[in-house]
Amino acid sequence: MNGLMMNQPLLISSLIRHADTCHHDTEIVSRLTEGGLHRCTYGDAHRRSRQLVRALLRLGVAAGDRVGTLAWNNYRHFEIYYAVSGMGAICHTVNPRLFAEQIAYIVNHAGDRVVFFDLTFVKLVETVRPLCPAVEHWVVLTDRAHLPAGAAPLLCYEDLVTAESDDYEWPEFSEETAAALCYTSGTTGNPKGVLYSHRSTVLHAYAINLPDSMGLSARDTALPVVPMFHVNAWGLPYAAPMVGAKMVLPGPGLDGASLCELYAAERVTISAGVPTIWLNTLAHLREKNIRLPSPHRTIIGGAAASAALIHALEHEQGIEVRHSWGMTETSPAATINTFKGQHAALSAEARDQVHGKQGRIVPGVELRIVDDAGRELPRDGAAFGDLEVRGHWICREYFKEEGAGVLRPGGWFPTGDVATLDADGYMRIVDRTKDIIKSGGEWISSIELENQALGHPAVAGAAVIGLPHERWSERPLLIVVKRAGHEVTGAELIEFLRSRVAKWWLPDAVEFTDAIPLTATGKISKRTLRATYAGYYTKQPGAT
Ligand code: ADP
Repeated sequence: MNGLMMNQPLLISSLIRHADTCHHDTEIVSRLTEGGLHRCTYGDAHRRSRQLVRALLRLGVAAGDRVGTLAWNNYRHFEIYYAVSGMGAICHTVNPRLFAEQIAYIVNHAGDRVVFFDLTFVKLVETVRPLCPAVEHWVVLTDRAHLPAGAAPLLCYEDLVTAESDDYEWPEFSEETAAALCYTSGTTGNPKGVLYSHRSTVLHAYAINLPDSMGLSARDTALPVVPMFHVNAWGLPYAAPMVGAKMVLPGPGLDGASLCELYAAERVTISAGVPTIWLNTLAHLREKNIRLPSPHRTIIGGAAASAALIHALEHEQGIEVRHSWGMTETSPAATINTFKGQHAALSAEARDQVHGKQGRIVPGVELRIVDDAGRELPRDGAAFGDLEVRGHWICREYFKEEGAGVLRPGGWFPTGDVATLDADGYMRIVDRTKDIIKSGGEWISSIELENQALGHPAVAGAAVIGLPHERWSERPLLIVVKRAGHEVTGAELIEFLRSRVAKWWLPDAVEFTDAIPLTATGKISKRTLRATYAGYYTKQPGAT
């Protein structure tokens, strides 16, 4: 027997409509690419996204079409999110930090008919455009006064939007309709498209608004540092209007000074971003001797947040850190770290142990770890194995690769990470399968070595890679960026690590560098490092 409750589809348009009804005057503050700050409200965004739908219809965009963006976090990008998905088309956010050829591949693979882009990317678009002949319209996210003069015809966003009325009713359709498309960065092979549905997106927004997740409310001001082109800014552009949190969108200003200015001026209470961003911001706060307004909680994910970073943010700045794990394929929130009541009684050291983990499983998601034969391993916090995930907002197939059989038996998605799980539901990432160092038949966690090295006061950045070694098959190399004004030698660092990790984990060598190469999503590019240091242990004179 079925229940007798209404069966309304979970649609993204309902989020902005609700924000307009209940949080009409709540602000969206944006740092503009043109310079200066812009202020509007959820009421304005709802009106303008409906005007934008009419403009898209006039350009010939129909339900199911893909519409690309190359844009920072700002109110125009937010309007595109709602207009495109709300009308039944697919919002395809493209990472502008990729190489032009990769961008062209992704735009062509997605079949984007229109691409919206910020002024920053005018030059990039000049290069990409001839490679993407199927794109019918290139729209600059600016007004007429800032429109660049160029050879190829460009449309002006403000002209398109303001020419239309907002007389538009959001259509109703199946909640399984595709809403947004994000490509994985393609560290192995070509990028793959993850196609989110309205249902997965709305359920994910509910989940991240739970108190032990990101936990936004109508009393919060949220600043997603994580770009709207990186897994939809981890869902914040959906979660914030859902509860009426004020939004602060940082545009191109992702340096420590620009972010701290917004944190203070707008009294931001929630931020979210990758660890690298916080490392830069922390350096700025220390240099200027500033303290951020309180309360402030930050969601750190995308790469491992070190114990040293978590400790510094909490103890120097009074910021609550919520460590989180996810992937493009998981929408991304799958685990988020908050304490349980029982942890209050723990010693500071034992609490740090819990806090360093990637967090507890978000309801709506299931995780398990398996061995090479696919047998489930115990949830004892010690056994580690391949991490698998399934749930309401987890990818089951990649766009245009349907039928390729991504899932394992039981409908589990293989994450490519190695992890532990414990009886309280906490997960700890040991490493990515391809980054784990296999030395003499044992495994060394590159993440744990980096974490420990970052605990040294002279270390600003650390990366560990495994390199081929004749005797041990692979051995770790530690690559370090020194903190400004500090000195340390390789031997001193190895000595520092000696009491902190097993003897056979100690890196055989330490190299110093000015900057660690990053991927387009701001993570350590281990592929680049492995290429740079290829043959390090095999070609050196006297190498064993
Ligand atoms: P890519 O890094 O390839 O651009 P994603 O953004 O989807 O793609 O990255 C997902 C991967 O990032 C995860 O599989 C995991 O290896 C890593 N990751 C994400 N969050 C964390 C975290 N908190 N700690 C350690 N690794 C993380």
